[in-house]
Amino acid sequence: MSEIPYLAIVGGGIAGPALALSLKKHHGISSTVYELQPKHDVRGVNITLAPNAVRVLQHVGVYDTVRTQGYSYEDLHMSNARSQALGTLLQGSPKHYNFSSLRVHRAIVQKALLDELKAQGIPVVFGKKLVQLREDKEFVELEFADGTKARASFVIGADGVHSRVRDAIMDTETSYSGFMGIIGMGVKRESLHKSAAQTPLPSFIFGGRGFVAVMPSDYKGTVVDFFSTMPYPARSRKEWDELASDKTKVQEILQQRFGDQWPKFICDITMEYNKEGLSLLPFFEVPPLERWTSIKRRVVLIGDSAHAFTPQGGQGAAMGLEDAETLSHTLAHPDFASDYMRLLAAWERHRSDRLRLVKDFTDLNGRLRTPDTAIVQWIKEMLIWGRFKWTGQLGNLQWLHGYNAEDIVRVF
Ligand SMILES: Cc1cc2nc3c(=O)[nH]c(=O)nc-3n(C[C@H](O)[C@H](O)[C@H](O)COP(=O)(O)OP(=O)(O)OC[C@H]3O[C@@H](n4cnc5c(N)ncnc54)[C@H](O)[C@@H]3O)c2cc1C
Repeated sequence: MSEIPYLAIVGGGIAGPALALSLKKHHGISSTVYELQPKHDVRGVNITLAPNAVRVLQHVGVYDTVRTQGYSYEDLHMSNARSQALGTLLQGSPKHYNFSSLRVHRAIVQKALLDELKAQGIPVVFGKKLVQLREDKEFVELEFADGTKARASFVIGADGVHSRVRDAIMDTETSYSGFMGIIGMGVKRESLHKSAAQTPLPSFIFGGRGFVAVMPSDYKGTVVDFFSTMPYPARSRKEWDELASDKTKVQEILQQRFGDQWPKFICDITMEYNKEGLSLLPFFEVPPLERWTSIKRRVVLIGDSAHAFTPQGGQGAAMGLEDAETLSHTLAHPDFASDYMRLLAAWERHRSDRLRLVKDFTDLNGRLRTPDTAIVQWIKEMLIWGRFKWTGQLGNLQWLHGYNAEDIVRVF
């Protein structure tokens, strides 16, 4: 590389720290991460990291730390509300993908990444809320809420679904996807009703009144979480906050769907779970963007800031991690300083092509989870059953789970 650019990364969630680590570890390139929270954020919920996500964590050196605090699994079981098996997806596989899937709390992943940044001497400036960007021919100026400014040759926006960096470079609005999720975490597996013995975990259960998943989430699989995603009418951000904090109402929503006509252990956990522990999350989406970079290409978006969609494909964090590693190899290209317009355009094309496929996969999952009439539900269950009969346990998802970010070098 003829000249090493100075990089500022806005957002210390998942994608931002992964980018900083990949740049440093693979290419010896330094960057600075600016994060609005005053310290590591412990909020969030359990997430699933499929092999394509876990592969990036391994490449940046945090996989072992994260793996030992989550639940690794290969088989994801699908059944209907009458406990009839519909199929089993090999969602992780050391044999086929080199990795299992991992169920783990988002805060554990973020902390492992931030700890590794510290160990690598990569600066993270907490309590820095970006409020404005000004892009020049040679540099970008960042302005923060505390009045301070910084300059960088390139700025990477990894500041999530409601991205300030994105607002600074284009006109676009996030919108409610029509779906929300409710999750309860920390249920002792041994406390589940004995009917759970018929349902191998982790499991996705599809019924006429919706969908519920039960997933182990600690290393030994002794603790489980349950979550449901569902269509729900739109409301203002303020009304969402009010609904999320009205735990009686949140529990009522669960009880209307899962109070009866489901395996007894599902009725029990959704009915008896301590309502204060329930989290309700509306899913906001970023509309497909024409570009993920500013016109002068000195500002680049990655992760949710570029393409947030619902988590119904379990691929949100995975896409941010893939963006991060692929972008690090792009920024480190030997011709980057002289040819960054072309290289970033090639990266953007490669990533947005993949994101379109992953979004389609996610939307299909969302449709399968939506409540329906008995006949439509029966057809959906037959489709799930038929798909696994036809494709086998891999579910024709090698394109998704087998992706290796290192292969980006082939597109240049
Ligand atoms: C309920 C739920 C379940 C999910 N389940 C899964 C799953 O199973 N599998 C999966 O792969 N994904 C899942 N996801 C999605 C996943 O959590 C996100 O896609 C992922 O966290 C996005 O990472 P990111 O780094 O792009 O953004 P974030 O993790 O949102 O990080 C953005 C960071 O930027 C900071 N920031 C924001 N604004 C500014 C500013 N102005 N200045 C400085 N810093 C700023 C924020 O504080 C934050 O730390 C789920 C999401 C939800 C809501």
